[in-house]
Amino acid sequence: MKKGKKILSTLLILASMSVLVGCGTSSDGAAAAATTGDGTGATLVMATNAAFPPYEYVENGEYVGIDVEISQKIADELGMELEIKDVEFGSIVAGVQSGKYDMGMAGMTVTEDRKKSVNFSNTYATAVQSIIVPSGSAIASVDDLSSEIKIGVQQDTTGDIYASDEYGDAVVRYKNGADAVQALVSGKVDCVIIDNEPAKSFVSANEGLTILDSAYAEEEYAICVSKDNEALLNDINGALAKLQEDGTIDAIVSKYIPAED
Ligand code: GLN
Repeated sequence: MKKGKKILSTLLILASMSVLVGCGTSSDGAAAAATTGDGTGATLVMATNAAFPPYEYVENGEYVGIDVEISQKIADELGMELEIKDVEFGSIVAGVQSGKYDMGMAGMTVTEDRKKSVNFSNTYATAVQSIIVPSGSAIASVDDLSSEIKIGVQQDTTGDIYASDEYGDAVVRYKNGADAVQALVSGKVDCVIIDNEPAKSFVSANEGLTILDSAYAEEEYAICVSKDNEALLNDINGALAKLQEDGTIDAIVSKYIPAED
């Protein structure tokens, strides 16, 4: 057994177990735009990478998705105007750190490494890394991953970090999830490692792909904010808590991730 395989095998987690902050059936607890912040009228610049459904993507020329809607509600709570910047995932942390963006929200996993550069809000979702393969692929479980095959990832994501660590040159990096999945569809890579909910979205949007039952590490998503902006971090945590409590986040999540039957 190759190094790392054992760890991965013990991490077998059903991709479908992805549970977000509760899958409620609560009604759209649409919050009135209360103001808990001091940013009345100011702009809240949120950096994301809008190729990561169901968290952020473009539909009919508009940004939509769980993160997009939650960030809009946070902006409402803070009495601010939301402005979305669609940038490469790998540039979000540095851009937030330097103050170019007020916050980053992109299905972003809290990692020790990123915490050296930015602060993270309380988490609002959990995820696992999933493996997508063409239906009927010889790759049937995480144990079949090796440096002999081509593994597609989105560059600078946790999937990239784990896979590069274990399989080195086997890893082929793409700018975003949509590009990685396109490479899989056209046979340029043998599998794609990506977060479980985007994996499900991509598989349902593309014929002939399937998700393996086994998955990588468990992760938590949070919003990143500059270490110099403690006040905004507190405001965001306050808004998140309220939106969690009043069912708004549950309602947004279940709109994009219908409960499985
Ligand atoms: N959750 C993964 C990460 O933080 C992927 C996020 C993304 O691609 N938007 O690295």
